[in-house]
Amino acid sequence: MPTSFSYEFDTAVYKGKTSFPTGVFINNEFVDGADGGTIDVINPTNGSLITKVSEATAKDVDLAVEAAQKTFDAVWGLNTPGKDRTDLMNKLAVAMEACADELAALDALDNGKTFGWAKTMDVPLSIELIKYYAGWADKIHGKVVETSEDKFTYVRQEPIGVVGQIIPWNYPLMMMCMKIGPALATGNCIILKPSEFTPLSALKMCTLVKEAGFPPGVLNVLVGYGKTVGAAISSHKDIEKVAFTGSTVTGRSIMEAAAKSNLKNVTLELGGKSPNIIFNDADLQQAVDWSFFGIFWNHGQACIAGSRIFVQSGIYDKFLEKFTEKTKTIKLGDPFASGTYQGPQVSNIQHERILGYIKSGKEQGATVHYGGEPYNGDGYFVNPTIFVDTKPEMKIVQEEIFGPVCCVIKFEDEADDYTDVIKQANDTSKMVLPLLYLSSKLIRGVLCGLLVYGLGAAVFTKNLDRALKTAHKLKAGSLWVNAYSTVNASMPFGGYKQSGIGREYGEEALHNYLNVKAKPPMDGLRDPTTIFFQYVG
Ligand code: NAD
Repeated sequence: MPTSFSYEFDTAVYKGKTSFPTGVFINNEFVDGADGGTIDVINPTNGSLITKVSEATAKDVDLAVEAAQKTFDAVWGLNTPGKDRTDLMNKLAVAMEACADELAALDALDNGKTFGWAKTMDVPLSIELIKYYAGWADKIHGKVVETSEDKFTYVRQEPIGVVGQIIPWNYPLMMMCMKIGPALATGNCIILKPSEFTPLSALKMCTLVKEAGFPPGVLNVLVGYGKTVGAAISSHKDIEKVAFTGSTVTGRSIMEAAAKSNLKNVTLELGGKSPNIIFNDADLQQAVDWSFFGIFWNHGQACIAGSRIFVQSGIYDKFLEKFTEKTKTIKLGDPFASGTYQGPQVSNIQHERILGYIKSGKEQGATVHYGGEPYNGDGYFVNPTIFVDTKPEMKIVQEEIFGPVCCVIKFEDEADDYTDVIKQANDTSKMVLPLLYLSSKLIRGVLCGLLVYGLGAAVFTKNLDRALKTAHKLKAGSLWVNAYSTVNASMPFGGYKQSGIGREYGEEALHNYLNVKAKPPMDGLRDPTTIFFQYVG
């Protein structure tokens, strides 16, 4: 009998019931994991057990791949016209809209993000992603390439087949929709592994996928650990593509497994240490507001978090004063209490890791300008922390903290000569000595390597010329001018350097899930502008 979850939310900001099975989702059915295990889902607000969900293992990956391949060959893939995929995806979006608050509550419950942010940011963007890619599903087409005066080649775009997707815990629903949107639109069958920390909204989504009428086997969701299910997906010989979002270290091992198994196609969305540059002529309040959002949104658990804030000397003091004032307004607390801006970090592991970075900042001689003390109370909360007087080689300046911790760094460059700040902004290239991911109980892993990030960056100035010149020199996949962290379903998103390979979102993401087939030159069909081929079976 597969596990299930029932819960009544009776909070200041949301009242409602939820109930759904939490088994391994294969072929539109929830079943027990092949090895019969379960995973504890923990409430980060107080460390208590929310529920247990069925644990998938490598054997379940085999079963899911088999089911997905059958569906791909017989029902989905090239068998289902794009228009039908559009219809199904739109039905899914409608089903999501009908339980939008419940989805937001589930993300708030196991992730610790506030219900308010989940409701106003995560869920609407997730629905937008499904609708956006629904719009693409009937517009996937090839092209004709004229290879000589009387010959042409036609180029088809075909779905890859069975694809694997591995997502992290920081935006559970949104990460899922960002991954499944383009894969479904292009006609692939999916084996998705949510994070073991935040599986609830993904499991609820399975019920909606079934309700929307997707054929069994199109989307299979396996909650399991990275070392088992994640590794099995990455190394599976019948999965021809894997898309991953998570840490750079894990991304590297996924790529290795992909190379060693069947050389599968890989897309990686990885970590960052994004610079946010504020020039003397910036609108001060605008710069403060966006910088605040850039680092403290989602408790700093954003790959694009603007964790290095470079401020030109002319406005440094004023910026720091206003930025600190705003940071003092952050109310930590229960994600379901009204007025809470920041809930707990997702897990004790992350909590300990962030505290380790704060400690290292102090030990390496940076000044804690605000925060820096451990939170006094239950749950995995971290006080928002601002460091100043940092040096480029410090760990807190070089490494991704993934928490509500930033460095405000003064720069002096003269007008029109921004080489120093641009160099600093582009440089996270310090050799990371064996970096211990510590938790109170275990050493999570040991990293060695050169981590050179290039995910996001921002520039604040009223001078358009300066904005563009600087922006073009910054090596990052997303670049904001006078804003931070705004994302949109149609904007390509991804990293330079070791922040990733490939792009998600936008039209670009469709190409992650398509094979391109060129049909050889054909004679004698030169004149018509439109050629309609009726296949005769
Ligand atoms: P993580 O790499 O530990 O885990 C991410 C996912 O990978 C989880 O589902 C996990 O179970 C799985 N996984 C772990 N080990 C695996 C393995 N050996 N093989 C296959 N799968 C494995 O990362 P995390 O701690 O969950 O998330 C935080 C990190 O993710 C941060 O570094 C952050 O920058 C990054 N991130 C990047 C983006 C982006 O879009 N670039 C978005 C969110 C998070």
